[in-house]
Amino acid sequence: MTLKMNCPKCNSVLVKKFYKGMIEVEACPQCRGMWLDFHELDQLEDITFNEDEHKGSLVHFQTKTNYPCPNCVDELDEFQYRLYDLKLDTCARNDHGFWLDAGEDERVIEIMQKRAAEIHRKINAEAEWKQMLKGMHSFLMKKK
Ligand SMILES: [Zn+2]
Ligand SMILES: [Zn+2]
Repeated sequence: MTLKMNCPKCNSVLVKKFYKGMIEVEACPQCRGMWLDFHELDQLEDITFNEDEHKGSLVHFQTKTNYPCPNCVDELDEFQYRLYDLKLDTCARNDHGFWLDAGEDERVIEIMQKRAAEIHRKINAEAEWKQMLKGMHSFLMKKK
């Protein structure tokens, strides 16, 4: 896609960035948020993970925002990710992707690391984060 995308929060033009060596994202140079396309998530390789943890209660609470989707300019929905008090924006209606504000991705990784420590299991927090995004994606797809 060659179309320019604009940041839903500050309207700057988004630039492509390779996020942690695993996903290509559109990042905002101004507010440092990032957009993750669903089709980019689809391209990620699968890793072994307990699927059950991603079912059911993944998304709480969904509400409309006034922020436009960078793909289609439809309004993004905000939802809360499980217990973590983490709010993400998504273009749920058209399955375009997720918006993460600056630092939200780092918070997810912290949460994953903390959880791994709690359950005394060695995991790769970044791989788990990647898996979480895929889980969210399939959750949103199924809901329709
Ligand atoms: Zn921005
Ligand atoms: Zn959209």
